[in-house]
Amino acid sequence: MRSIDPGNDYESWRRAARELLVAGVAPGEVLFEREQGLFGGAGGLREEPAPYRAGDAAKVPAAFVKLARAASCHREEGRWALLYRILWRIVKGGERDLCEISSDLDVAKALLLGKNVRREIHKMHAFVRFRLVATDGESGRETYAAWFEPEHRIVEAAAPFFRKRFANMNWSIFTPLGCAHWNGEQLAFSEGLAASPLNGGDSMEDFWKTYYRSIFNPARLKVKMMRTEMPAKYWKNLPEAELIGPLIQESRRRVETMHGEDLRPAKAAPRNRYLASLGEMSAAAACSGPSGNQSLAEMAGAAANCRACPLWKSATGTVFGEGPGDARVMVVGEQPGDQEDIAGRPFVGPAGKLLDEAFAQAGLDRSAMYLTNAVKHFKWTPRDTPRGKVRLHQSPAAGEIEACRPWLLGELHRVAPEVLILLGATAARSLLGREVKVVSGRGLIDAPKLAARVILTVHPSYLLRLPAGEVRQAAFAAFVDDLRLASA
Ligand code: SF4
Repeated sequence: MRSIDPGNDYESWRRAARELLVAGVAPGEVLFEREQGLFGGAGGLREEPAPYRAGDAAKVPAAFVKLARAASCHREEGRWALLYRILWRIVKGGERDLCEISSDLDVAKALLLGKNVRREIHKMHAFVRFRLVATDGESGRETYAAWFEPEHRIVEAAAPFFRKRFANMNWSIFTPLGCAHWNGEQLAFSEGLAASPLNGGDSMEDFWKTYYRSIFNPARLKVKMMRTEMPAKYWKNLPEAELIGPLIQESRRRVETMHGEDLRPAKAAPRNRYLASLGEMSAAAACSGPSGNQSLAEMAGAAANCRACPLWKSATGTVFGEGPGDARVMVVGEQPGDQEDIAGRPFVGPAGKLLDEAFAQAGLDRSAMYLTNAVKHFKWTPRDTPRGKVRLHQSPAAGEIEACRPWLLGELHRVAPEVLILLGATAARSLLGREVKVVSGRGLIDAPKLAARVILTVHPSYLLRLPAGEVRQAAFAAFVDDLRLASA
């Protein structure tokens, strides 16, 4: 019987398995030793492994590589022997399509391991909470760190998500099962740590607490579902978790109070709700009070983990606002479109280009303005067209606009613009708290709580939907006239 140390990851197991195959060692003749201790292995940083290419393992079906990569992250002791058994059956037993047979006991077991791993990766994406640990005095570049305790060895598989989402900041994610580090150019990994190197809280933690409190709705509380989505094992590393118990208890009292109240709709209800949301925001949802120590960048980082409505599931990522934090003019659109979703920046698609043209004609400098959207994730539906499959824009629902409002209010309070331009009905609904007829109500509107001058106008995508020719030209000219109110 041979004894093999397969290491802790897929690559080292793959090398060992290849040697065993070449030597003709059958699965029953090899013993895969236990994996190293949690914090074992070579120290120092190692680079991200090269991505798998189809030619890397010409004799192994891609389905096996996919299955093995996922299952190998699991900490189940028998995973290496299981994967070698499947590999042997494929290569030596000629069962080329084995991985397609989900009823096969070996394959079913490996699929289950992979499923658990994917679920854990998903949880890591959702529950990592970064803290600001340093700011470079010269460049202003910020460094964040987070502590997370995964059940499986998923750090390397989960890290590319964070690289994409937080490309503009340095970060480290420390876990007992490996650590990931990003310096703006390179993703690197190191061995796990026995305990969190991070001490104390920071402003980001206050932000998570205030944001969680602001989105907590006692009337919709489903404790069982909440525990499924946010399992208790993650709570100790979630700043907002300490609020969960008290909020659940308080929710019963709040719901009883709501049931005891006269719930007949009052005429002024929308306005009251709006004022209440503004008050809630200034106290909790996004501002940290007069000291204002939560920057727009910190908010953008926190929003990337937002799960307050379902739109995050189908979008590439959040598209937060961009522009100077002290801009005189702030522009609010509806939501990112297809191109914005991919680029991670607002107003870079066709509507954005039209907006740039209108800015230029109105004498406005885009780089001096803060541009954002009422909803931060792209809502779409797949559609077959003559051009192939496309992601067709869908308007956000009232609940999604409502859920995203704290982020928009947070931006508004930080930028505190002199002039606020609302592009379209969604932006207006979010900040005015009521339905607005844009075409008939456009121009300067009275909303002094938002900004000294508030301009309501159409969204540029509305112009793109008009028939080309005189009608669109006239509508574009009217749009530019509206924007000129900002430069006046
Ligand atoms: S759309 Fe807004 S509220 Fe919904 S998940 Fe995204 S950031 Fe959160």
